[in-house]
Amino acid sequence: MLRQNLPALAIAALLATASTALAQTTVTTVRARAKRSAQSGEVERALADYARLAFAGDRGARRELGKLHMQQVKDLISAAKGEATPGAVELLQRAHALDPFSGKLRRKLRSPFAKHDYTYAFGRYRAEAEAKQLEEQRRHALDARRDELGLPTSFAGIQRGPFRFYTDVDPKYGKRVVGQMLAAIEAHLVRYVEVMGPLGLTHASDLDVVLFNKEGDYLAHTKASGSAGVYIPSQGCGYFFAGTAGFDFPPLLHEKTHQLNDKLLKAGVASPWFEEGIAEYFGAGELKRGCQQLQVGRPERSRLSTFRGMVTGYQGSVTPLRSFLAARQAELSGSYYAQAWALTQFLMEGGLPQGRMIVYDLIKTAQASGQRQARLSDDTMREILGRYGWTIEALEKAYLAYHQQGCKPLRGMAAFLK
Ligand SMILES: [Zn+2]
Repeated sequence: MLRQNLPALAIAALLATASTALAQTTVTTVRARAKRSAQSGEVERALADYARLAFAGDRGARRELGKLHMQQVKDLISAAKGEATPGAVELLQRAHALDPFSGKLRRKLRSPFAKHDYTYAFGRYRAEAEAKQLEEQRRHALDARRDELGLPTSFAGIQRGPFRFYTDVDPKYGKRVVGQMLAAIEAHLVRYVEVMGPLGLTHASDLDVVLFNKEGDYLAHTKASGSAGVYIPSQGCGYFFAGTAGFDFPPLLHEKTHQLNDKLLKAGVASPWFEEGIAEYFGAGELKRGCQQLQVGRPERSRLSTFRGMVTGYQGSVTPLRSFLAARQAELSGSYYAQAWALTQFLMEGGLPQGRMIVYDLIKTAQASGQRQARLSDDTMREILGRYGWTIEALEKAYLAYHQQGCKPLRGMAAFLK
């Protein structure tokens, strides 16, 4: 266990050593590489680098990525023109998969799909007959799924966008709590797609959410004692309860993140620390405008103070990063979550674009493994860090210093990396 308190001078010294270790791959070098790939016609490589930069918050790269996608869409649409229905539809589906959450792309594909009697329904383009059938069976399908989840018939089912929502909250008394919850899960999805979109998301229309009126019923159904919400991957369903004082938003945002990682990101569990860390990152978000908007990324006070308590040894202790990264399973303890949040918060918001590019590479590696429980080894993490000139030791110093400073982006480093 590591117990350390870093006085200001020590932080300055750490920054100096961490900076020298960070001189390898930067936004500038990746941007140059992306441009070279695009010019020499290596579209896949250019796409990967622009996506990496877009995830790291580079607006220019987001535009370039959008342009490259549009070019691909145009090429696929014109290729589809010469094809009979099955081949054409396959090409058009490939175009839609480039950005399945984009309304602009959906509209652009409407008329090419219509030529083959395809229409948009339940998250994707479908043959008109199938779409009609699904629409007719909607009520029945909702009921069937409710039975499959083992919920009583007293649960009302609502299909709202990609969500299938079930609740036994009495609409007469619980209108507000249900309305807030639906707004919150939609706001969470919008922000998730915005942040995680460059990683490549698939569309799903089976994001099941159950809201119990009573905690006792929730516990009896999920057996998740001591929790305020749970996502059960084998069922693909998130469970929550309303209780008497409304329901708890941070656990909702945390568990919904597990669901979207599972259903949309399809990266498996890249690493136990990251799965919990990114769930905490969204879980620490702030819901605004009557739960219609979610803001993420600001250092959240209670998590920060817990983690700082651990760093100073005042409250628990921080696990050395080497063993923390290598842990095969998330520990269900407050200090584990605090540390997972602290590390993810630093990588996502520490003011160093490499942080997010490292996250990008981590997820892409997990996606490429094609396994639901990828669980990348610490060698993989070491290798990914190495691409950016980082070591586990440098990362450890940098993220502790960042939190010691109260989550201000590390001065000196950011300028160094421009
Ligand atoms: Zn979790």
